[in-house]
Amino acid sequence: MRTTLLPGATLGVMGGGQLGRMFVHAAQAMGYRTAVLDPDAASPAGLVSHQHIATGYLDEAGLATLADVADAITTEFENVPADALRALAARRPVAPAGDAVAVCQDRAAEKAHFGASGVPCAPYAVIETPEQLATVADDLLPGILKTARLGYDGKGQVRVADRAALAAAWQELGRVACVLEKRLALRLELSVIVARGADGQVVHFPVQQNLHRDGILAVTEVPAPGVSPALAAQAVQRAGAIAAEMGYVGVLCVEFFVVDDGAGGLALVANEMAPRPHNSGHYTIDACDCSQFEAQVRCMAGLPLVAPRLHSPAIMLNLLGDLWFDAAGTEREPAWDAVLALPGTHLHLYGKTSARRGRKMGHLTITAADAAAARATAERAAQLLG
Ligand code: ADP
Ligand code: MG
Repeated sequence: MRTTLLPGATLGVMGGGQLGRMFVHAAQAMGYRTAVLDPDAASPAGLVSHQHIATGYLDEAGLATLADVADAITTEFENVPADALRALAARRPVAPAGDAVAVCQDRAAEKAHFGASGVPCAPYAVIETPEQLATVADDLLPGILKTARLGYDGKGQVRVADRAALAAAWQELGRVACVLEKRLALRLELSVIVARGADGQVVHFPVQQNLHRDGILAVTEVPAPGVSPALAAQAVQRAGAIAAEMGYVGVLCVEFFVVDDGAGGLALVANEMAPRPHNSGHYTIDACDCSQFEAQVRCMAGLPLVAPRLHSPAIMLNLLGDLWFDAAGTEREPAWDAVLALPGTHLHLYGKTSARRGRKMGHLTITAADAAAARATAERAAQLLG
């Protein structure tokens, strides 16, 4: 029997990045104590947590300390070793489970799981051996070769036009296990976040539309302007099926491509999933009556899940390290005072000590009474920052 952990209990999180930081903020707002395990002494979440255990993810003493102090444990980072989560689960409730996180860590396992859940994904082939490379079907080209593990923000991916480029790309990626995906003509990209409790109850957040630049999420808009209610309902249904198929407990984000269905309509293709809150769900902090991080707290604490409601249209702009450099490459502080003079702007900075190009430093959510006003403010904010 799983017991409910009421405020006052300690919630532990593996990983100390920005997602952990926002989880800590949500947990503390509800009266929980928090413990973060992350090797970095200056990790964004470690800096704001009641307790920070600064060890490696597989450090036995570190894991033992986390299990001693935390009444339940979650993760904010999908590359936490699944074995660390499995070891913790011997002592404390862990959500999501190590097995579910392991599926999300491997693009081949992830795609197989989509299939098992009855959810289509892009045509693909697993490439682990020279034989598999040689026998790839022609119709997967032009494609994108992606490392099966450890890719993020477009890293570990090479676009390949033909077989020669594919062979060179596999070499370039170090001949590690990869998947080759057919390159699809995307009409747009969307994602959906679901939260599933230990009792199997699922709630979802509104479907969000995402714009990526250079493989990195740049802008999220809700309500999704290019997504019909029927398509949104299908995305929600599929994300729920993917979660249920693995008995998932926690917050799960599923990214979808929207493509032409060949019959004048649109079709959904699952891209990837994350076993945690997601960058595309940050708007929920300011625009929903329950954030994705509060949902994570509720799932792991065994609290009731209540369907979240969007109370304002919202646009989220990711704030990458590039904004900390002027045209001449000199470091500067972005014009926050000017941006914060705009109505409905919510600034979130992650407390990272140094800015690098492409590094996620924070995000800005703009809420407004209607989508047109949110868009106008977002354009103005982008001008002021750029
Ligand atoms: P990451 O883990 O880096 O987010 P993704 O697989 O989500 O990796 O790819 C990043 C982005 O690259 C996607 O959001 C999409 O814009 C583009 N992309 C990835 N796969 C495909 C594909 N098969 N066809 C077209 N575009 C793709
Ligand atoms: Mg992605």
